[in-house]
Amino acid sequence: MTPFGADRADLPALLARDWDVLIVGGGITGAGILLEAARRGLKALLVEQYDFAWGTSSRSSKLVHGGLRYLKEGRFALTREAVRERESLLRAAPGLVEPQSFAFGAYAGRKPGRRTFLLGLAIYDRMAGQRARHDFSRDEFRALVPNAAEDGLQGGMCYQDAKTDDARLVLRVLQEAHAHGGVAVNYLGTRSLLREGGRVTGALLCDELDGTTYPVTARATISATGAWADALRVPAGARPRLRPLRGSHLVLPAWRLPLAQAVSLMHPHDGRPVFAFPWEGATLVGTTDIDHADAMNGEAAITQGELDYLLAALHCQFPAANLSADDVIATFAGVRPVIDTGKADPSKEARDHALWLEDGLLTVTGGKLTTFRAIALDALRAARPLLPGWHDSLEPRPVFATPTLPYDRRLPPGQAQRLAGRYGAQAAALIAAACPDELSTIPGTQTLWAQLRWAARHEAVRHLDDLLLRRTRIGILTRGGGRHLLQRVRAICQPELRWSDERWDAETAAYLALCARHYGLPRDGR
Ligand SMILES: Cc1cc2nc3c(=O)[nH]c(=O)nc-3n(C[C@H](O)[C@H](O)[C@H](O)COP(=O)(O)OP(=O)(O)OC[C@H]3O[C@@H](n4cnc5c(N)ncnc54)[C@H](O)[C@@H]3O)c2cc1C
Repeated sequence: MTPFGADRADLPALLARDWDVLIVGGGITGAGILLEAARRGLKALLVEQYDFAWGTSSRSSKLVHGGLRYLKEGRFALTREAVRERESLLRAAPGLVEPQSFAFGAYAGRKPGRRTFLLGLAIYDRMAGQRARHDFSRDEFRALVPNAAEDGLQGGMCYQDAKTDDARLVLRVLQEAHAHGGVAVNYLGTRSLLREGGRVTGALLCDELDGTTYPVTARATISATGAWADALRVPAGARPRLRPLRGSHLVLPAWRLPLAQAVSLMHPHDGRPVFAFPWEGATLVGTTDIDHADAMNGEAAITQGELDYLLAALHCQFPAANLSADDVIATFAGVRPVIDTGKADPSKEARDHALWLEDGLLTVTGGKLTTFRAIALDALRAARPLLPGWHDSLEPRPVFATPTLPYDRRLPPGQAQRLAGRYGAQAAALIAAACPDELSTIPGTQTLWAQLRWAARHEAVRHLDDLLLRRTRIGILTRGGGRHLLQRVRAICQPELRWSDERWDAETAAYLALCARHYGLPRDGR
């Protein structure tokens, strides 16, 4: 049994059951719905065509934030909800969701002006019921962000948001859902919907590892397929409702852009917000926001234009650092599921979630990682008509049960909390399963070698990229996808995964090719 609730060998029996809710899509939206449904007594099954968090939910900017910029657009309700969810995640998952202070420099002639920004921060603080904002003089700001551009610098402001490991957040939600009886299966795609008298009654699922198909019925079928939602709901030829927007990021070694805290700035070309912050031992820079015209059946990747755009922002804010493409360890790109209203500027499209109930299929798409619990509750509210007799309250409950902090004197500082946040009640078992020296960190990251063993043994790893891009983030935290670490990764994980030498070699080749194509610098003039 995996911590997410299903063993591959049990698939036929599992899929023959009658389900209350079938959730298609294993990103944060699907995971959140699984948790909220399972803890309210519904028999709920989640299926994901690739790996858990394979889609946008492992490629976000990893911020758990209220969306300060939405205040400028007058979207107070959206910000208030996100601030509330940020605060409850900070309470529920310390070690996984951590506070992150942001600094913003005020420069002569640049927008927004200091007064406007401070007004926004006052509203932001008020929504959170705290006073986290600070206003700094020029010298104070220089002390806070020593490498910031000095030309025209007048001072700066600080505010508080939070950050996370998005893929691990999905996995923690799935783990919590499993504790309530929810079941999640990866590499189980939905090929088509089952209908009776035109109404959706379930889906035809396909085991992507061996090709077996299974018709599965459920009282409610919910599509949480993010940017892929149109493919499941749109009858052939109908107008799609989503506008896929790509956002790309750079990962830099922390020593090339050391930051004591996050820095946000308005991009010199178009005035869009861009940020850089310390993440998992590296520095993360993002993001772009452009129409994603590529086919949706592959992984997104950064283009040369996006790389230049992000480097231009870094040159503007940190001119002395002299950063170039050679400094980039890795890149990653995600596709936002944004509702298309035909705006000329993609950044002007609203970021709210949407719910569409069509012929018995409930589609939930859009929104943010931060607000997954609120989205899940909205989805279940909308699904009520499909679940007659089910009357449970949909008031928010604490996101996670509070785990006991594990203890081992060999753990590096801060790791007990980090593991408790990521693995919940299983943190102690992870430590107990570690071999000698696996409770040390992998160079350049905050990941323990022991996390690899645990993932390979217990976390439904089907391919090497599951292990290195989502169970751990080694693939985006080290150069070349962590090629230089693979010998030790193999020594730990190959026996746990029970892969032959041939299988390991094939997985390695496929993984390294994936990293080069989708997680490195742009290639072939893209
Ligand atoms: C660049 C970028 C930065 C972002 N930054 C932030 C941020 O900092 N903070 C924040 O709160 N939000 C952020 N967001 C938004 C957030 O990441 C998304 O709203 C969220 O991850 C969407 O989750 P999801 O589960 O709806 O979609 P996804 O994570 O994409 O999950 C959908 C899943 O459905 C699966 N699927 C599709 N079709 C099928 C099928 N037929 N059968 C089975 N499975 C299927 C896909 O494989 C996929 O894994 C960002 C988004 C982007 C793109």
